[in-house]
Amino acid sequence: MRRYAGSCRFIFNKALALQKENHEAGGKFIGYVALAKRLTAWRNGADTVWLKESPVHPLQQALKDLERAYTNFFAKRADFPRFKKKGQHDSFRYPDPKQIKLDEANDRIFLPKLGWLRYRNSRKTKFSNNWKRARARVQRLHARIGNCRRDFLHKTSSIISQNHAIVCIEDLQVRNMSGSATGTTEAPGRNVRAKSGLNKAILDQGWFEFRRQLDYKLAWNGAYLIAVPPHHTSQTCLSCGHVAKDNRQSQARFECVVCGFKENADVVGARNILSRGMEKLRDEGQNTARARAGCASTARIACEVSGAVRPPATGTRRGESVHAG
Ligand SMILES: [Zn+2]
Repeated sequence: MRRYAGSCRFIFNKALALQKENHEAGGKFIGYVALAKRLTAWRNGADTVWLKESPVHPLQQALKDLERAYTNFFAKRADFPRFKKKGQHDSFRYPDPKQIKLDEANDRIFLPKLGWLRYRNSRKTKFSNNWKRARARVQRLHARIGNCRRDFLHKTSSIISQNHAIVCIEDLQVRNMSGSATGTTEAPGRNVRAKSGLNKAILDQGWFEFRRQLDYKLAWNGAYLIAVPPHHTSQTCLSCGHVAKDNRQSQARFECVVCGFKENADVVGARNILSRGMEKLRDEGQNTARARAGCASTARIACEVSGAVRPPATGTRRGESVHAG
């Protein structure tokens, strides 16, 4: 292949020298067809017979390259053609795809005079400029999403912590929920695909960060964050206390199968979280009268943060019974 490239370079330079000589002698520009005839003579010439070892089509392409170089020069698109140097853009070109066979399955290519050759497909688009641009775009987008979320979480946690003495949340432990979905060799994970999607959704929502912010901001204001056991908070009837999965008709509807009490399922969950939080405070001998006055709004907030995740930050009050799994 190096020899072929060298032959092409030789032909390009020889034809260029010929053009120059011809021009200096007052002759007209020699077109491709005339040069191609010269090429045939060179290939048969006694001192350049080695040109015959190279396929003729790539040599003809070298002449076409020279012609294009002149055309660009005449059109003032390029400088005057220069002689080619060894080791600079060494290459040759087969013009006819019908002469080439590509066997991608076996990574081999058939080239005239060279036969079958193994090749490595340079599909390394990974670090191409396009790839880098695409990656930069994704990173910018992620940074923007992150900023929006942080902004939202800070505003919301500030408003809640400035207006409430007590906030109750479910003590969902994200480490259990989002623990490695892959599992271990001894206990391979089940529903890996579904679970990893859930992990992403949970962590993506920023609940842990929200809870962390609530925790320290409430502490600044001398208020409490109370984490309560999350079991059945949305399945326990507010009216009769009956616990059943069937009470939860849908994501949004709660209807008690015993007493028929109806309510929005999130409101039911929130009220249960609140009453568990109040219970905990009473157990610790705290006066819950003030908190009770703000019952409705506290419940709403408990509802809003009922997806809270991960073990609490320092200062959160939690019961011993909290071991959500
Ligand atoms: Zn009921």
